[in-house]
Amino acid sequence: MRVELLCTGNELLDGSVIDSNSAWLEARLFELGIEVTEKRVVPDHLPTIAAAIREIAARADFLVTSGGLGPTPDDLTAEALAQAAGVSMVENAGVRAAIEAKLAERNRVYSEAQARQAHVPSGAEVLPNRFGTAPHIQMKLGHCQVMLLPGVPREFYGLAEAFVLPRIGAALSADPTAAHYAFLEVRCYGVWEADMVWAVRELPDRFPGLRVGTRTAAPENHLKIRASAKTQAEAEAMREAARAVIRERLGDRIFTEDSRPLPQVVFEALRDRAATVAFAESCTGGMAAALLTDWPGASEVLRAGWVVYTEEAKQRLLGVSAQLIAQHGVVSEEVAVALAERARDRADTTYGGAVTGWAGPGGGDAKNPVGTVFVALASSSGATVVERLSFPGVERDRVRRGAAYALLNQLRLAAGGS
Ligand code: ATP
Ligand code: MG
Repeated sequence: MRVELLCTGNELLDGSVIDSNSAWLEARLFELGIEVTEKRVVPDHLPTIAAAIREIAARADFLVTSGGLGPTPDDLTAEALAQAAGVSMVENAGVRAAIEAKLAERNRVYSEAQARQAHVPSGAEVLPNRFGTAPHIQMKLGHCQVMLLPGVPREFYGLAEAFVLPRIGAALSADPTAAHYAFLEVRCYGVWEADMVWAVRELPDRFPGLRVGTRTAAPENHLKIRASAKTQAEAEAMREAARAVIRERLGDRIFTEDSRPLPQVVFEALRDRAATVAFAESCTGGMAAALLTDWPGASEVLRAGWVVYTEEAKQRLLGVSAQLIAQHGVVSEEVAVALAERARDRADTTYGGAVTGWAGPGGGDAKNPVGTVFVALASSSGATVVERLSFPGVERDRVRRGAAYALLNQLRLAAGGS
């Protein structure tokens, strides 16, 4: 099935607005098993829009447009559809009444500007828009169903959910030749994107009909699988076979097989095990704690956090000895361990996590240059684990985020969460 998108608007071509409507719709269509064949962006210019509609309608099964349905003179999409169809614009009594009613609520009267929005191509289907004033218009052009959506994202999403996706979905289910799909998303931490892809590189050859895609949301890497087959059962069997290979190759670098971010996985793992944590953070400035407080119910898990930025604060607030700092340096394995254990003891928690490092651009010493971070996790049972991270030449923000995630990942491994 061929689905194409047409976005209108000068603002999309001069860099002032990013076309996010089509990305959103593409993702929703992909879930149905449809890949958009082509999309085009054109300016607010009547002959250009009309020509694009005519050209696309000649080859596509569905054409969805975005923008240009408002009351201003640069809103030309409905008129362009009329031109493409070779029909005139006619006033629609229902739309007019709806606009008049909305205006009356605001003590405004129907004017020539609004009259534009009440005009639709003759013979078009007019559907109610409870998200705004412009009507939702659909019209068959040859064998192509043309669907006009407003540009305002909230209205675009609402009308697409109500009228566009259900119709395309229905056409798809009525098509006996259409493939069936099963999806899988696997999220990893601690593996480079290229290595993640390399680890599962033979999947598409082994399972014809399987597609593998990746996305990076640093420091997470996500693997997306789409299995397609003639029946739903076959598609699901293929997905499960692929899942087994992926698990075998990526092991505990997989932190979830759904769409939860790492901090949420960690939070839920701790909560489900009734475990608690406290943090002593230096260069992350409380970021690890903040990542856990994104989730409602965080107080069940996070008991306390110290931002011990200076050497003096590490000594005074957490009792790390001046001698230990002098002996090993403030950015050292020993200081990270001491901070983690003190945080655990002072807050009386299951776990104590700590970060100390040089986020840059200044700081560092010969042994531990800028970009070196130690993260440590102490637990109420078992030895304290400590990890030395190295982010050479990486900008400050990414060092800090990388360190906070590394600490959360230690917590995930300790709590056995996935
Ligand atoms: P209105 O009734 O508000 O005029 P409209 O259907 O005429 O709606 P446009 O005028 O084209 O839509 O765009 C309205 C606003 O929606 C724009 O200012 C822009 O911020 C946003 N917008 C337009 N197209 C897109 C797009 N493809 N992706 C994201 N936002 C968009
Ligand atoms: Mg407009």
